Amino acid sequence: MDTSAVFDHFRASGAMLEGHFELSSGLHAERYFQCALVLSEPWRAEALAEAFEQALQSTSENANATAVDCVVGPAMGAVVWAQEVGRALGKRAIFTERKDGSMCLRRGFSFRPGERVLLVEDVLTTGGSAREVIAVIEEHGAEVVACGCLVNRSGKNPFEDLGLPLTALVTVDALTWTPLECPHCASGSKPEKPGSRAQAGIGGGA
Ligand SMILES: [Zn+2]
Repeated sequence: MDTSAVFDHFRASGAMLEGHFELSSGLHAERYFQCALVLSEPWRAEALAEAFEQALQSTSENANATAVDCVVGPAMGAVVWAQEVGRALGKRAIFTERKDGSMCLRRGFSFRPGERVLLVEDVLTTGGSAREVIAVIEEHGAEVVACGCLVNRSGKNPFEDLGLPLTALVTVDALTWTPLECPHCASGSKPEKPGSRAQAGIGGGA
């Protein structure tokens, strides 16, 4: 599935907005991805996850990325995506979540020693949460062998220093700025926060 076909799914479900936005990371951007909306239509989620699985298979540096035992994503954003990727791979899918601000594994989830994990995010902006997830997985005796995301807007592989390959279904050079550098703020526009406005209580989006 090429980028325009992926974006067709996003647009059709209202999951891609264009304007001036403040992301959950605090950065400003012209494009906002609300993956929860595109994933709320299971036929789209299934098609995107199958395409992602193809992308994992076809990336030679990710030869080991499909040889995993488990798919893990951080709540809330990546819960549905991890589930769909797990289904496409025929593997177990679980999630980490925050309790009192710290990322952790709850609900009886655990790993066998040395279990091989594919870490997935919905939208990758800085990779900050994902790094906390990696630490949790390793504390529990498993090993992260590859990372993946639906949309990579970080402009790089944020896990390169950890030696982890990254597969993105789409890579967008959607520009982001700090508020001080943002040209839209400089011209007097105020950013929208679509996650908090339209999906109160759910959060996510980037
Ligand atoms: Zn701005």
